[in-house]
Amino acid sequence: MSIDKIIDISRVLLSIAGRYLVFAGAFYLFFYVWRKRAYWYAKIQQRYPENKHILREIIYSFFTILIFGAVIMLVIYASKLRLTRIYPNISDKGYAYYFLSIGLMILMHDTYFYWTHRAMHWKPLFKLMHKTHHLSTNPTPFAAYAFHPLEAVVEIGIVPLIAFTIPYHGTALTIFSLYSLLLNVTGHLGYELFSQGFTTHRLFKWHNTSTHHNMHHRLVKCNYGLYFNIWDRLMGTNHPDYEKSFDQIVEKRKKAKGKEGIALLPDGLATE
Ligand SMILES: [Zn+2]
Ligand SMILES: [Zn+2]
Repeated sequence: MSIDKIIDISRVLLSIAGRYLVFAGAFYLFFYVWRKRAYWYAKIQQRYPENKHILREIIYSFFTILIFGAVIMLVIYASKLRLTRIYPNISDKGYAYYFLSIGLMILMHDTYFYWTHRAMHWKPLFKLMHKTHHLSTNPTPFAAYAFHPLEAVVEIGIVPLIAFTIPYHGTALTIFSLYSLLLNVTGHLGYELFSQGFTTHRLFKWHNTSTHHNMHHRLVKCNYGLYFNIWDRLMGTNHPDYEKSFDQIVEKRKKAKGKEGIALLPDGLATE
């Protein structure tokens, strides 16, 4: 392998690992270390996962990063061979299309994620590739990439799907990837930060919350969506108590907030 190729691969891997560490690491450090006591009142499940679960999430994420890197390298080489629909200058298609393409990527990914996720909940596939992600019943931000290697291939599949189907600029794909990572990390945050009424608001109810995906990890057969609450509503797969649970968590958070979260923290910080 030439030095150039090794440099290319290292650059891609460092970029994926760096983004994951910055996003998951920053949220983890803030909510699980630095401000752990202060934000206890906003914790969705009133307990913390054991360290061995957090370590498992990080170890699986390491392999996910390698798999993501391999697939992205293939997409980069396909682009060099002009097999993808990448275009070099934003002006080639204008800013309107540039921003539209980012929105389109998010909508495509939301649909792709919902249906591949539901397929992976089919028993044989669940055992084969998705059970690993569900070992986190009380996820932390590090669960964002805690996949079985086969699931990691499915998850990164959205990138070639976009690259081969819609015209895109490289930076639009980067913005989409960062937004996707942000939503993935906040979905696994374990803390609910949105306000009361979010899940019943005319507009906001169509967007997911951290509670939504946290319930998926705790209860498994419900709440499959990623960014939006469109497919779950259309297919009737929201947990029947989703809105009620969200309201209860926010209500509890409101009551606890003024009364000093520290006083409510159990001795030694609860773990599972
Ligand atoms: Zn699942
Ligand atoms: Zn998850």
